[in-house]
Amino acid sequence: MTHKSKYDVDALRKKLTEQGSRKSDPDEFRPDKPKDVSTEIKYRFYILPPVCQNDKVKGGALAAKGMELYAIPNGAHWVNQKPHACPRVINNEDCIMCNMGFDLFKLHESKEKRTKIRQQWMPNEQWLVNIFFTGWKSNPETLRGKVMWYALPKTVYDLCSATIHRQDGGDEEDPQAFGVFFDEFNAFPLELVVHLNGGQVSYQKTRFLPTAQPIVKKADSTEPDEELIQKVLDNRHYLYGKVDEPNLARLKQVYDTLVDGDDDQSGDAGFTSDESKNEKKEEKPKEEKPKAEDKPKLESRGTASAKNPNKSDKLKNNERVTSGDDDDVASLLSQGETPVKSEKSEKPNTAAASKPSTAESEDEDSTDLANIMAQLSGDDD
Ligand SMILES: [Zn+2]
Repeated sequence: MTHKSKYDVDALRKKLTEQGSRKSDPDEFRPDKPKDVSTEIKYRFYILPPVCQNDKVKGGALAAKGMELYAIPNGAHWVNQKPHACPRVINNEDCIMCNMGFDLFKLHESKEKRTKIRQQWMPNEQWLVNIFFTGWKSNPETLRGKVMWYALPKTVYDLCSATIHRQDGGDEEDPQAFGVFFDEFNAFPLELVVHLNGGQVSYQKTRFLPTAQPIVKKADSTEPDEELIQKVLDNRHYLYGKVDEPNLARLKQVYDTLVDGDDDQSGDAGFTSDESKNEKKEEKPKEEKPKAEDKPKLESRGTASAKNPNKSDKLKNNERVTSGDDDDVASLLSQGETPVKSEKSEKPNTAAASKPSTAESEDEDSTDLANIMAQLSGDDD
């Protein structure tokens, strides 16, 4: 005798598949992780110039909004393994979580304490760029000649900033990249070096190669191939479409959960969705008590939490996601998606989301890029 369930298993499977596939974007570059401390993984690519408004982007759409810099900021507060887009980093707006962090920074001088505050209250920050892989033989074959987007970790972003600020190319013995490293006719290739340092993924050895060159050259020449360069640029990704839109109401809920705790009756008001309730369960205090110094601040912000000293125990849960500047933010971000993200990816108002069915044009693109790849081979040592 078979029991006919009222639950639709096919719909369930479909949903699961969708959720699973949404987690990885085939256009996003994620460097491999070294398997041991003696392994260094290297890639070479160019960071591409900023997309301007109405520039063609991958999929053939026109960019709705131009970039001010070669990179756009992205940031998320991680609470219980879930990212919550930060309005300060993304939109330069007030952020309730960051404000708490900044207030606590004012109160605490010790490095240890500040590290903890950063881990608990500050977002992971990354900078999204378009990149173009050179034909360098050590690049994986599948990447050569490809345009992808990449979330630069802080270490690499800082290197880029320092390079822009550098006034000259150094001396002959130690030449250095400097200035606008992303000029497609005169660009410095970036060599991304991934290694392990104290168990953490590190990018400290990353550097720009010191010789600027066109990102695609004509065969047997040092002259730029303008046509192919334009093709590369037309394949840049619309990066604003890759960033979550901050959800202020949701962020406030998360903040309240952290500050007020689940056993505070007044704190129940904001929690109506099942998801919030589940989160509260996961957040049950189970580790050591917080340091007493935090409490006066919580009190002074009128958050009604000081009466329960166990409240911030749950903050421990998110420590793992902000362990240092060399955090592999991309892989952290891959561990979960906010509901906002799913909505966003279905919105038709961004170039990335509105791209038409592109199977055909993508094939065409990859043919072109294979062409580029052939011309690039042997480009650099
Ligand atoms: Zn924030």
